[in-house]
Amino acid sequence: MLSYTDSHCHLDFPAFGSDLEALIEACNRVGVRRFIVPAIDWHSLQSASALADRFPGRVFPAVGLHPCFMESAGPVDEKRLLRAAEGAEWIAVGETGLDGRFPETAKLQAEWFDLHLSIAAQMSLPVIVHAVRAHQKILAHIKRYSGVRLVVHAFSGSYEQAKAYIDRGAFLGVGGVIARSTAHKTRDALARVPLEHLLLETDSPDMAPRWSNCSSRDGAARKGYRNTPLSIPSIARRLADIRKVPLEALAVRCEQNAGLAFPGLKPGA
Ligand SMILES: [Zn+2]
Repeated sequence: MLSYTDSHCHLDFPAFGSDLEALIEACNRVGVRRFIVPAIDWHSLQSASALADRFPGRVFPAVGLHPCFMESAGPVDEKRLLRAAEGAEWIAVGETGLDGRFPETAKLQAEWFDLHLSIAAQMSLPVIVHAVRAHQKILAHIKRYSGVRLVVHAFSGSYEQAKAYIDRGAFLGVGGVIARSTAHKTRDALARVPLEHLLLETDSPDMAPRWSNCSSRDGAARKGYRNTPLSIPSIARRLADIRKVPLEALAVRCEQNAGLAFPGLKPGA
């Protein structure tokens, strides 16, 4: 059976409560064996690392404060972040980055993003980047951190944007976006960039893939629907179609890529 890593999912969110154990077992049965869980706020720094303790060799946490939750992050505080990070084995720094939909926190986002990049440089960890309507600004920020490996999560840009990231060695996370009927530009980009730079992800519980516009699937997009890492094999199949390669070759390469993007990732338990 093919093995997969969900390179970005928030399994510590309340949406995954009592049935998490059963869900991880169900994922195992379809080959999804490893889960990278990025923290998003002070609380989830605890919950993501607790999940890694509960599912060793399955869940790998990342340390970060998400740009969409800057109000709860508060002013930039390196000591506080390092203290909160103590004692856990982090696989990456993130989720961090810039989100242009929240101009009121733009300054704070930029300051926290810089701090995350500098911590990643010190700790020799890759950085999971949330990039929404901010590609140019992000490319400007990362110039100063040329040694830091980047994973641009849920990539939804154009070929030119993809290439700009890849030219500086970044990996791109591919998720449910590729199923959207409007995502022509992104599908075109993901068909053309080197496969060596692509990772699979779901961003669960968000970003449910919409595989078609038929009414039964519309429900998937409605509020309250929960995406899960069980979507990974369908995302892989869709990406294999886009790239016109056999599913097996794509899945094997994406697993290799996950190991290269996240050197701390251990073989699945
Ligand atoms: Zn996320």
